Amino acid sequence: MKTIQKPKYRKLSDLLVHPPQIVKNAFGNITWKINTDEKVVYLTFDDGPIPDITEKILLALEIFDAKATFFCVGENVKKYPDIYKKISDSGHTVGNHTFSHLNGLKTSTEEYIENIEKASEYIDSKLFRPPHGRIKSSQQSIIEKDYDIILWDVLSYDFNNKISKESCFSNVKHFTRPGSIIVFHDNIKATNNMFYALTQSLLLYKEFGYRFEALTEDVIRKQAPVSVKKSKLFTAFF
Ligand SMILES: [Zn+2]
Repeated sequence: MKTIQKPKYRKLSDLLVHPPQIVKNAFGNITWKINTDEKVVYLTFDDGPIPDITEKILLALEIFDAKATFFCVGENVKKYPDIYKKISDSGHTVGNHTFSHLNGLKTSTEEYIENIEKASEYIDSKLFRPPHGRIKSSQQSIIEKDYDIILWDVLSYDFNNKISKESCFSNVKHFTRPGSIIVFHDNIKATNNMFYALTQSLLLYKEFGYRFEALTEDVIRKQAPVSVKKSKLFTAFF
């Protein structure tokens, strides 16, 4: 496989935008990106479904013939089952993002696992993304028996109102490479930044000849193997 040129870190917060390999290794069995040199990226949307916003995302994706993955919050799926159904009906995939959007580091392992199970009554998926990217290793070791845990290669930072929509797009543009898993947010707070960064990214990567695909268990299994050495040092870093 070709070595892809590594993007340079520009400032401290880039460590969250694009976690360095040493941090990725520390987490062990987690999918951060798909190991490929094909021109394909994996757009993901966290926290929905939300009326109006999710539907507009679906429309934008349709225009660009893009497929994506929606990490849904169980209580939102419970409230808006029709929008949830529309996501799958449009050919996208879904993932479990807990029932109540819990922060793993602030929640007991028992409560956290119960919350994921509750979400699974509404979300039919074996993909899981921990809210805020925060998870204890005791939680991770239970979840990974049943789920593929997905974090990210590129965080747009769209949820942060202190940064401009142009900076969100620049985060994507700077760090995206073949196989990147990119995070946007399907929530009210992120709307402005998200729609700008999303549409600009769709335009740019379409022009570069990229495909936008949904994550599935198959995509994860069939990628070229990556060797991961787990160390405890950074396990609770995020
Ligand atoms: Zn979230």
